[in-house]
Amino acid sequence: MTKRIYNFSAGPAILPTEVLEKAQSELLSLNGIGMSVMEISHRSKHFVPILESAETGIRELLNVPENFKILFLQGGASLQFSMIPINFLKTSADYVVTGAWGEKAVKEAKKCGNVNVIFSSKAEGFKSFPHQDELNFSQDADYIHYCSNETIDGVEFKYDLDGKGIPVVCDASSDILSKPLDFEKYALVYAGAQKNIGPSGVTLVIIRDDLLEKVPENQFSMLDYRAIAKNDSMLNTPNTWGIYLISLVCEWLKNKGGVKAMQKINEEKAKILYDAIDSSDGFYSGHAEKEARSLMNVTFRLPSEDLEKQFVTEAVRYGFDGLKGHRSVGGIRASIYNAFPKEGCEALVEFMHDFTNKNS
Ligand SMILES: *Cc1c(COP(=O)(O)O)cnc(C)c1O
Repeated sequence: MTKRIYNFSAGPAILPTEVLEKAQSELLSLNGIGMSVMEISHRSKHFVPILESAETGIRELLNVPENFKILFLQGGASLQFSMIPINFLKTSADYVVTGAWGEKAVKEAKKCGNVNVIFSSKAEGFKSFPHQDELNFSQDADYIHYCSNETIDGVEFKYDLDGKGIPVVCDASSDILSKPLDFEKYALVYAGAQKNIGPSGVTLVIIRDDLLEKVPENQFSMLDYRAIAKNDSMLNTPNTWGIYLISLVCEWLKNKGGVKAMQKINEEKAKILYDAIDSSDGFYSGHAEKEARSLMNVTFRLPSEDLEKQFVTEAVRYGFDGLKGHRSVGGIRASIYNAFPKEGCEALVEFMHDFTNKNS
């Protein structure tokens, strides 16, 4: 087998080896049909069950109620920054901003109408999330938008935000499927697939039926959630390869015991890294406040930028990739999504100890 390295990339990110192997084994001939999944009609009897299995997989894993539709779109999570206000911003919308992605969502929404940023931790450097009782929603808000895990900053909400009757829209791109979600609280949850669900090029949208009814008449078809839902995500040709891989990832996750079991493993993995940071006598310092620490993206700094550069360079030599922080914030970021193995966290900690010994 070709050697796989420890891939800490924030996205597109590591996929389970079992999934890649299964896809490899079926690449030339899917279920013995003599064609790959990329070479058949999306309306064929060979593809339709794959779409169904991806949809059922997500529904079962996240316990999504019947009054929600599960859609596979394109355009990334970034298109949702626009598509959500285009469809649902009529009077005003409330945005909770705890990091760089939430900020981008605001920028797009402002092009559509009246946006109230009811919370932002930007001035403090995006290190925390607000508690429910700190949030005062606008009475006329059409919806509330927030990002459950800020991938760049490594800040993760530890609860499902309650809109108190106002529809809650959540960008869960980088922590979906890492833990259970309470769909009582949500009207729309979306996620680019390339962090924790599959390859890039697919966006998962889980949307409540009553929100679908609010899509304006005569909406452009490709921006029309209702039309897309009516056509089972096949208003046009979907990303068949991406959806196929998502179906395999769902199968893999189920075999691992589902998202609750995964959450426990994710907590263990993150603890290994955060403990190393906290016991380093300040050589490593975590970016996020302790209670806001992400289980998916562990962000930290070293005493100087030079040492950070050196850390990343030496890490590559040890077989660790993707540890450089996002270009906008610097530092180090270890992304440890579902598919990332615990041994990789242990190996990184060993490297961190060595690096401290040589450089402090
Ligand atoms: C990666 C990411 C995005 C952007 O996703 P694209 O699919 O590249 O558009 C948006 N939000 C969050 C939280 C992300 O992690």
